[in-house]
Amino acid sequence: MTARIYCFANQKGGVAKTTTAVNLGAYLAAAGRRVLVVDTDPQGNATTSLGADPRALTLSLYNVLIDGVPIQQALTLTDRVGLDLVPSNTDLAGAEIELARLMAREQLLARALRPVLEQYDYILIDQPPSLGLLTINGLTATTHGVVIPVQCEYLALEGLSLLMKTIQQVREILNEHLTIAGVVLTMYDSRTNLGQQVVEEVQSYFPNEVFQTIIPRNIRLSEAPSYGQTILSYAPNSAGALAYQALAQEFMARAEQQPADFKAKQVPSPSPSV
Ligand code: ADP
Ligand code: MG
Repeated sequence: MTARIYCFANQKGGVAKTTTAVNLGAYLAAAGRRVLVVDTDPQGNATTSLGADPRALTLSLYNVLIDGVPIQQALTLTDRVGLDLVPSNTDLAGAEIELARLMAREQLLARALRPVLEQYDYILIDQPPSLGLLTINGLTATTHGVVIPVQCEYLALEGLSLLMKTIQQVREILNEHLTIAGVVLTMYDSRTNLGQQVVEEVQSYFPNEVFQTIIPRNIRLSEAPSYGQTILSYAPNSAGALAYQALAQEFMARAEQQPADFKAKQVPSPSPSV
Protein backbone atom coordinates (compact mmCIF):
# COMPACT_ATOMS: atom_id res chain seq x y z
CA MET A 1 0.00 0.00 0.00
CA THR A 2 1.14 3.47 -0.73
CA ALA A 3 -0.10 6.64 0.88
CA ARG A 4 -2.81 8.79 -0.60
CA ILE A 5 -1.49 12.33 -0.43
CA TYR A 6 -3.83 15.31 -0.11
CA CYS A 7 -3.14 18.97 0.46
CA PHE A 8 -5.37 21.51 2.18
CA ALA A 9 -5.15 24.74 0.27
CA ASN A 10 -6.74 28.16 0.05
CA GLN A 11 -4.61 31.26 -0.02
CA LYS A 12 -7.10 32.97 2.27
CA GLY A 13 -6.09 32.73 5.93
CA GLY A 14 -8.54 31.69 8.60
CA VAL A 15 -10.78 29.45 6.48
CA ALA A 16 -10.00 26.32 8.60
CA LYS A 17 -7.30 24.64 6.51
CA THR A 18 -5.37 23.70 9.63
CA THR A 19 -8.44 22.85 11.71
CA THR A 20 -9.65 20.56 8.94
CA ALA A 21 -6.30 18.86 8.24
CA VAL A 22 -5.63 18.18 11.91
CA ASN A 23 -9.10 17.03 12.96
CA LEU A 24 -9.77 15.03 9.84
CA GLY A 25 -6.38 13.41 10.48
CA ALA A 26 -7.40 12.54 14.04
CA TYR A 27 -10.59 10.80 12.90
CA LEU A 28 -8.85 8.95 10.09
CA ALA A 29 -6.37 7.68 12.68
CA ALA A 30 -9.23 6.74 15.02
CA ALA A 31 -10.68 4.71 12.15
CA GLY A 32 -7.46 2.71 12.06
CA ARG A 33 -5.71 4.51 9.22
CA ARG A 34 -2.04 5.49 9.48
CA VAL A 35 -1.90 9.23 9.04
CA LEU A 36 0.88 11.77 8.61
CA VAL A 37 0.16 15.50 8.86
CA VAL A 38 2.80 17.66 7.19
CA ASP A 39 2.85 21.27 8.37
CA THR A 40 4.04 23.49 5.51
CA ASP A 41 3.01 26.76 7.16
CA PRO A 42 5.77 28.75 8.90
CA GLN A 43 3.14 29.79 11.45
CA GLY A 44 3.25 26.20 12.69
CA ASN A 45 -0.44 26.07 13.62
CA ALA A 46 -0.81 22.39 12.78
CA THR A 47 2.31 21.74 14.83
CA THR A 48 0.88 23.56 17.86
CA SER A 49 -2.55 22.00 17.37
CA LEU A 50 -1.01 18.56 17.56
CA GLY A 51 0.77 19.31 20.82
CA ALA A 52 4.30 20.08 19.61
CA ASP A 53 6.11 23.29 20.50
CA PRO A 54 7.30 25.07 17.33
CA ARG A 55 10.03 26.86 19.32
CA ALA A 56 11.47 23.65 20.71
CA LEU A 57 11.95 21.62 17.52
CA THR A 58 15.35 20.12 16.85
CA LEU A 59 14.39 19.23 13.29
CA SER A 60 11.51 20.54 11.23
CA LEU A 61 10.26 20.58 7.66
CA TYR A 62 12.75 23.38 7.01
CA ASN A 63 15.67 21.00 7.55
CA VAL A 64 14.02 18.40 5.35
CA LEU A 65 13.43 20.78 2.43
CA ILE A 66 16.51 22.97 2.63
CA ASP A 67 19.17 20.80 4.28
CA GLY A 68 18.05 17.50 2.79
CA VAL A 69 17.57 15.85 6.20
CA PRO A 70 15.65 12.56 5.74
CA ILE A 71 12.01 13.11 6.64
CA GLN A 72 12.05 10.17 9.07
CA GLN A 73 14.34 12.20 11.32
CA ALA A 74 11.84 15.04 11.54
CA LEU A 75 8.82 12.83 12.28
CA THR A 76 7.14 13.62 15.57
CA LEU A 77 4.63 11.34 17.25
CA THR A 78 1.43 12.89 18.60
CA ASP A 79 -0.62 11.71 21.57
CA ARG A 80 -2.87 9.90 19.12
CA VAL A 81 -1.81 6.48 17.91
CA GLY A 82 -1.54 6.40 14.13
CA LEU A 83 -1.24 10.17 13.79
CA ASP A 84 2.27 11.49 13.13
CA LEU A 85 3.49 14.97 12.31
CA VAL A 86 6.24 16.63 10.33
CA PRO A 87 6.38 19.89 12.28
CA SER A 88 7.23 23.40 11.19
CA ASN A 89 8.15 26.70 12.71
CA THR A 90 9.19 30.18 11.66
CA ASP A 91 12.44 28.83 10.17
CA LEU A 92 10.27 27.87 7.23
CA ALA A 93 9.48 31.52 6.50
CA GLY A 94 12.96 31.87 5.05
CA ALA A 95 12.50 28.75 2.96
CA GLU A 96 10.40 30.55 0.33
CA ILE A 97 13.47 32.53 -0.64
CA GLU A 98 16.03 29.78 -0.11
CA LEU A 99 13.97 27.31 -2.15
CA ALA A 100 14.19 29.61 -5.14
CA ARG A 101 17.89 28.85 -5.62
CA LEU A 102 17.55 25.05 -5.33
CA MET A 103 17.28 22.50 -8.14
CA ALA A 104 13.86 20.92 -8.53
CA ARG A 105 12.63 23.50 -6.05
CA GLU A 106 8.96 22.71 -6.69
CA GLN A 107 9.43 18.98 -6.16
CA LEU A 108 11.39 18.87 -2.93
CA LEU A 109 8.43 17.88 -0.75
CA ALA A 110 7.29 15.18 -3.18
CA ARG A 111 10.79 13.72 -3.14
CA ALA A 112 11.17 14.04 0.62
CA LEU A 113 7.98 12.05 1.21
CA ARG A 114 9.05 9.06 -0.90
CA PRO A 115 10.78 7.12 1.89
CA VAL A 116 7.65 7.10 4.09
CA LEU A 117 4.95 6.41 1.49
CA GLU A 118 4.57 2.79 2.56
CA GLN A 119 4.31 3.79 6.21
CA TYR A 120 1.05 5.70 5.87
CA ASP A 121 -2.43 5.39 4.40
CA TYR A 122 -2.98 9.14 4.29
CA ILE A 123 -0.60 12.06 4.13
CA LEU A 124 -2.33 15.40 4.77
CA ILE A 125 -0.38 18.52 3.85
CA ASP A 126 -1.49 21.66 5.67
CA GLN A 127 -0.66 24.63 3.46
CA PRO A 128 0.13 28.25 4.29
CA PRO A 129 -2.21 31.08 3.26
CA SER A 130 -0.26 31.95 0.13
CA LEU A 131 0.43 30.61 -3.33
CA GLY A 132 4.21 30.69 -3.02
CA LEU A 133 6.77 27.92 -3.43
CA LEU A 134 5.72 26.09 -0.25
CA THR A 135 2.19 25.78 -1.58
CA ILE A 136 3.48 24.77 -5.00
CA ASN A 137 5.53 22.03 -3.28
CA GLY A 138 2.38 20.77 -1.57
CA LEU A 139 0.36 20.79 -4.80
CA THR A 140 3.16 18.97 -6.58
CA ALA A 141 3.42 16.29 -3.88
CA THR A 142 -0.34 15.66 -3.88
CA THR A 143 -1.47 12.39 -5.46
CA HIS A 144 -5.21 12.29 -4.68
CA GLY A 145 -6.25 15.89 -4.83
CA VAL A 146 -6.58 19.25 -3.19
CA VAL A 147 -9.04 19.74 -0.37
CA ILE A 148 -10.29 23.32 -0.35
CA PRO A 149 -11.82 24.57 2.89
CA VAL A 150 -14.22 27.45 2.27
CA GLN A 151 -15.53 29.55 5.12
CA CYS A 152 -19.29 30.19 5.02
CA GLU A 153 -19.07 33.96 4.97
CA TYR A 154 -19.74 36.90 2.69
CA LEU A 155 -17.53 36.72 -0.44
CA ALA A 156 -16.60 33.13 0.36
CA LEU A 157 -15.60 32.44 -3.24
CA GLU A 158 -13.54 35.58 -3.65
CA GLY A 159 -9.97 34.79 -4.61
CA LEU A 160 -10.72 31.15 -5.40
CA SER A 161 -10.25 31.73 -9.12
CA LEU A 162 -6.59 32.46 -8.37
CA LEU A 163 -6.26 29.15 -6.52
CA MET A 164 -7.97 27.36 -9.42
CA LYS A 165 -5.55 28.98 -11.83
CA THR A 166 -2.57 27.90 -9.74
CA ILE A 167 -3.91 24.34 -9.58
CA GLN A 168 -4.33 24.40 -13.35
CA GLN A 169 -0.75 25.59 -13.85
CA VAL A 170 0.68 22.97 -11.51
CA ARG A 171 -1.35 20.34 -13.36
CA GLU A 172 0.06 21.46 -16.69
CA ILE A 173 3.67 21.68 -15.63
CA LEU A 174 4.40 19.71 -12.47
CA ASN A 175 1.68 17.23 -11.53
CA GLU A 176 -0.60 16.04 -14.31
CA HIS A 177 -2.70 14.05 -11.84
CA LEU A 178 -3.69 17.01 -9.69
CA THR A 179 -7.45 17.19 -9.09
CA ILE A 180 -9.78 18.75 -6.58
CA ALA A 181 -10.58 16.09 -4.03
CA GLY A 182 -13.27 18.09 -2.34
CA VAL A 183 -14.51 21.37 -0.96
CA VAL A 184 -15.28 21.58 2.76
CA LEU A 185 -17.71 24.24 3.96
CA THR A 186 -16.55 25.48 7.35
CA MET A 187 -17.73 27.72 10.20
CA TYR A 188 -21.35 27.47 9.13
CA ASP A 189 -23.72 29.52 11.25
CA SER A 190 -27.25 28.13 11.00
CA ARG A 191 -28.71 31.24 12.64
CA THR A 192 -28.06 33.45 9.64
CA ASN A 193 -29.56 33.42 6.16
CA LEU A 194 -26.15 34.31 4.82
CA GLY A 195 -24.78 30.91 5.79
CA GLN A 196 -27.37 29.09 3.71
CA GLN A 197 -26.84 31.46 0.77
CA VAL A 198 -23.13 30.83 0.83
CA VAL A 199 -23.66 27.06 0.94
CA GLU A 200 -25.82 27.26 -2.19
CA GLU A 201 -23.39 29.56 -3.95
CA VAL A 202 -20.41 27.30 -3.29
CA GLN A 203 -22.40 24.20 -4.26
CA SER A 204 -23.31 25.72 -7.59
CA TYR A 205 -19.70 26.73 -8.23
CA PHE A 206 -18.41 23.24 -7.30
CA PRO A 207 -21.37 20.99 -8.18
CA ASN A 208 -19.52 17.71 -7.67
CA GLU A 209 -16.85 18.56 -5.17
CA VAL A 210 -18.56 19.93 -2.06
CA PHE A 211 -18.70 17.44 0.82
CA GLN A 212 -22.18 16.90 2.21
CA THR A 213 -20.86 17.29 5.72
CA ILE A 214 -20.81 20.96 6.68
CA ILE A 215 -18.65 22.01 9.61
CA PRO A 216 -20.57 24.30 12.00
CA ARG A 217 -19.06 27.20 13.86
CA ASN A 218 -18.22 25.66 17.20
CA ILE A 219 -16.32 27.24 20.07
CA ARG A 220 -14.72 23.93 21.09
CA LEU A 221 -12.99 23.71 17.71
CA SER A 222 -11.33 27.06 18.33
CA GLU A 223 -10.34 26.17 21.90
CA ALA A 224 -8.74 22.78 21.21
CA PRO A 225 -5.51 24.06 19.57
CA SER A 226 -4.55 26.10 22.61
CA TYR A 227 -4.47 22.84 24.58
CA GLY A 228 -2.43 21.15 21.86
CA GLN A 229 -5.30 18.75 21.30
CA THR A 230 -7.46 17.63 18.44
CA ILE A 231 -11.21 17.93 18.89
CA LEU A 232 -11.35 14.16 19.35
CA SER A 233 -9.26 14.45 22.51
CA TYR A 234 -10.55 17.81 23.70
CA ALA A 235 -14.33 17.61 23.25
CA PRO A 236 -15.36 14.39 21.50
CA ASN A 237 -19.07 15.01 21.99
CA SER A 238 -19.12 18.58 20.72
CA ALA A 239 -20.91 19.54 17.53
CA GLY A 240 -17.53 20.28 15.96
CA ALA A 241 -16.23 16.81 16.81
CA LEU A 242 -19.29 15.07 15.40
CA ALA A 243 -18.96 17.09 12.20
CA TYR A 244 -15.31 16.17 11.67
CA GLN A 245 -16.10 12.55 12.47
CA ALA A 246 -18.80 12.58 9.77
CA LEU A 247 -16.47 14.35 7.36
CA ALA A 248 -13.83 11.67 7.94
CA GLN A 249 -16.35 8.95 7.08
CA GLU A 250 -17.40 10.76 3.92
CA PHE A 251 -13.80 11.53 3.01
CA MET A 252 -12.68 7.91 3.43
CA ALA A 253 -15.63 6.59 1.46
CA ARG A 254 -14.75 8.95 -1.39
CA ALA A 255 -11.02 8.30 -1.16
CA GLU A 256 -11.10 4.55 -0.83
CA GLN A 257 -13.32 4.05 -3.87
CA GLN A 258 -10.09 4.51 -5.72
CA PRO A 259 -7.01 2.37 -5.26
CA ALA A 260 -4.15 4.13 -3.50
CA ASP A 261 -2.06 4.01 -6.64
CA PHE A 262 -4.91 5.42 -8.69
CA LYS A 263 -3.70 8.06 -11.07
CA ALA A 264 -6.43 10.59 -11.40
CA LYS A 265 -7.57 11.35 -14.90
CA GLN A 266 -7.10 14.85 -16.10
CA VAL A 267 -10.27 16.59 -15.08
CA PRO A 268 -10.89 20.12 -16.28
CA SER A 269 -11.32 22.47 -13.37
CA PRO A 270 -14.60 24.37 -13.07
CA SER A 271 -14.36 27.57 -15.04
CA PRO A 272 -13.93 30.25 -12.41
CA SER A 273 -16.42 33.07 -12.75
CA VAL A 274 -15.82 34.87 -9.48
P1 ADP B 1 -6.40 28.45 8.31
O1 ADP B 1 -5.49 27.29 8.57
O2 ADP B 1 -7.13 28.36 7.03
O3 ADP B 1 -5.70 29.78 8.46
P2 ADP B 1 -7.53 27.79 10.88
O4 ADP B 1 -7.81 26.34 10.83
O5 ADP B 1 -6.30 28.21 11.63
O6 ADP B 1 -7.54 28.43 9.44
O7 ADP B 1 -8.81 28.49 11.52
C1 ADP B 1 -8.84 29.90 11.73
C2 ADP B 1 -9.41 30.18 13.14
O8 ADP B 1 -10.75 29.78 13.19
C3 ADP B 1 -8.68 29.41 14.22
O9 ADP B 1 -8.63 30.20 15.37
C4 ADP B 1 -9.58 28.20 14.44
O10 ADP B 1 -9.46 27.69 15.75
C5 ADP B 1 -10.95 28.79 14.19
N1 ADP B 1 -11.90 27.81 13.66
C6 ADP B 1 -11.72 26.96 12.63
N2 ADP B 1 -12.84 26.25 12.38
C7 ADP B 1 -13.76 26.67 13.28
C8 ADP B 1 -15.13 26.33 13.54
N3 ADP B 1 -15.77 25.41 12.82
N4 ADP B 1 -15.76 26.97 14.54
C9 ADP B 1 -15.13 27.92 15.29
N5 ADP B 1 -13.85 28.28 15.09
C10 ADP B 1 -13.17 27.68 14.11
MG1 MG C 1 -3.43 27.26 8.89
